[in-house]
Amino acid sequence: MKPARFRYARASTLAEAIALLAEAPGEAKVLAGGQSLVPMLNMRLVRPAVLVDITRVRELTGITPAGESGLRVGALTRHAELVASPLVRERAPLLAEAARHVGHAAIRNQGTLGGSLAHADPAAELPAALLALDARVLVTGPRGPRELTADTFFRGLLTTALEGDEILGAVEIPARPPGWGFAEIARRPGDFALAGVVVVLGSPRAPLSPPTGEGPRVVGFGVGDRPLRLRGAERLLAGVTIDPGTAARAGAAVGSDCDPPSDVHGSADYRRHLATVLTERALLQAAARLAGAAR
Ligand code: FAD
Repeated sequence: MKPARFRYARASTLAEAIALLAEAPGEAKVLAGGQSLVPMLNMRLVRPAVLVDITRVRELTGITPAGESGLRVGALTRHAELVASPLVRERAPLLAEAARHVGHAAIRNQGTLGGSLAHADPAAELPAALLALDARVLVTGPRGPRELTADTFFRGLLTTALEGDEILGAVEIPARPPGWGFAEIARRPGDFALAGVVVVLGSPRAPLSPPTGEGPRVVGFGVGDRPLRLRGAERLLAGVTIDPGTAARAGAAVGSDCDPPSDVHGSADYRRHLATVLTERALLQAAARLAGAAR
């Protein structure tokens, strides 16, 4: 299919992009890498009157340090840049690892961090990683800038706290956690995950061993209508040393927090089972890194 007719407008600055969105209230869409939007346009799942191309807006680019060990990443940062950036690998290696699993090379060369977050596919890797990292999402619109926690940004299936006239500008990631793990299962490399789990343990300020309640974040993707904090596992892990036994118990605790879909690729029960196994794997990875950081 071909998209319905739309007007195309390219913005050169953030102010211009916001003004263009305001000209067509509720009828304009932002175009970034186009990797999700263009298929949706072609299938006529969305029919905006105006497409506002933000790809030339320099204010939305850049990967810069934030504070002593945090990171600020502009919305237009492409997935491939996240994978390759030495600063991301040093300060947020979980984000680089998550980006490596997004689609194929061609998708990673075009798709942007902001686009992935704004699109909010529940099986997407980057929203889950940012939720686990306690990232802040910086948004701008005609009413000025807003800052949201990743926890409040994702509202449901393809739904976020972004208003139609707002633009996601950047994300800020507080500090590199010493322990992190990432595990997903997809039918083929490059496919969306059937299910995945991201784990973050401790923070540089928290005692490293045993990991305390400050740190544990267990986030599932592909197992609900948005990236989901698997709080049963988080509660079970608070204050305990992670070994194969606690990892298995935490894995067994995630089922009740998941509400996965059933489709032609797998039943809800199968995805729940994957979440259990992947939690265990991601936890053991994170614990090994935590132990390495403490040495
Ligand atoms: P676009 O397609 O340009 O936009 C997506 C949505 O976000 C639109 O609604 C748009 O209006 C909005 N938007 C974009 N940027 C902003 C902004 N700065 N502010 C406000 N709104 C904004 N994704 C995964 O996570 N994992 C995968 O494994 C995966 N596999 C894929 C495989 C294929 C074959 C394809 C085609 C896509 C796949 N994707 C996957 C989806 C895709 O990679 C991401 O969703 C995509 O990168 C989104 O970024 P984009 O820049 O292309 O956004």
